[in-house]
Amino acid sequence: MNPNRSEKDWIPLQVPWLGDEEARAAAQAVRDGDLVGGGRIGRRVEGILRDRFGARHALLTTSCTHALELALLALGVGPGDEVILPSFTFPSCANAVVLRGAECVFADLRPGDLNIDPVDAERKITPRTKVLMPMHYAGAACDMDALTALADGCGAAVLEDAAQGVDARCGERYLGTIGDAGCYSFHATKSATCGEGGAFLTNDDALAAKAEIIREKGTNRAAFLRGEVDKYSWVSAGSSYVLSDALAAILEVQIAKLDAMRERRKALWDIYFERLAPLGAAGRIRLPARIPSSRPNWQLFWFCAESPEARDRVLDRLRADGIGATFHYVPLHSAPYRIACGQPIPSLPETTRAAATLVRLPLFPQLARDKAEWIAEKAAQAVLSA
Ligand SMILES: *Cc1c(COP(=O)(O)O)cnc(C)c1O
Repeated sequence: MNPNRSEKDWIPLQVPWLGDEEARAAAQAVRDGDLVGGGRIGRRVEGILRDRFGARHALLTTSCTHALELALLALGVGPGDEVILPSFTFPSCANAVVLRGAECVFADLRPGDLNIDPVDAERKITPRTKVLMPMHYAGAACDMDALTALADGCGAAVLEDAAQGVDARCGERYLGTIGDAGCYSFHATKSATCGEGGAFLTNDDALAAKAEIIREKGTNRAAFLRGEVDKYSWVSAGSSYVLSDALAAILEVQIAKLDAMRERRKALWDIYFERLAPLGAAGRIRLPARIPSSRPNWQLFWFCAESPEARDRVLDRLRADGIGATFHYVPLHSAPYRIACGQPIPSLPETTRAAATLVRLPLFPQLARDKAEWIAEKAAQAVLSA
């Protein structure tokens, strides 16, 4: 928020598209006493996720952060193991590794889509590599064929951080369902939301069985509720990662709106892309590469300015016009916590460059098209005068 402006003429980066239907669904859940997680609403929404995205198992969780923690627990990651992940991502990915006592090994990204570079990931493989954890930036697919082949070659698992990839595809397959497991976020900044929420997805029955227990405080409560055991008890290490049914009720409405929200986002994304394409062709900015096999969810729009200084000037100009444009991740490999832990800082030039030059423009379903055209024009002017 720009303190010099009234809220009225400030265009935020993202606003969730919530309405009466979500409010009614939440109120109904409360009236019916559907608050505890894993109840009839949660199970219904998990069925919707399985059907819509083509996963054998989907477990709703309290967040994507928790889904990632749950995933690394279920995959048996522990001290001595290494997990290869991008540095240009959210701290939750690295925290999930650190909380298991394992090592983060950061790989650089590809400049075209800011996703993990499989060539650099391959260089980082060692006999201790246990998991590859790609993250689908901006809801555009990583090179899953290359990453799956790498993982198969070294016996590692693939865990997709599809926090931003809900409803996006790679070929015919939905992100989050391609690796051994995948995680979604339903945070308010993501493509479908219940405020705070997430999901763990897998096609592996054995992994799903472990995940179900970990999510329920390390107990076999889920099997008990299905009548498979006559009492439930502590059967493994676990935690409390189940989403409340009242939030699942909101999510159910949001998932039904995904097609409409995606189409609106795409129309806005195209307005930005088309207006800025000449500047991309002239080498003034770098726009996202459009990869034919990737069907993104148009979750966010980014471009990279010519230099860090030009980026800062572009952001200043846009904000002065009341446009909530912003940067994105501060790289993890050189973050204060890594330094405080005394860990060496690898050289990841593309990551450093992207983080220092990236601009995101406001993008949310209810943003009017004429507003987006105006923002695109302002962005083009800001780039030209930077
Ligand atoms: C948002 C996000 C997360 C965290 O999601 P929560 O549901 O807020 O825990 C993790 N990874 C990435 C890439 C994200 O964008």
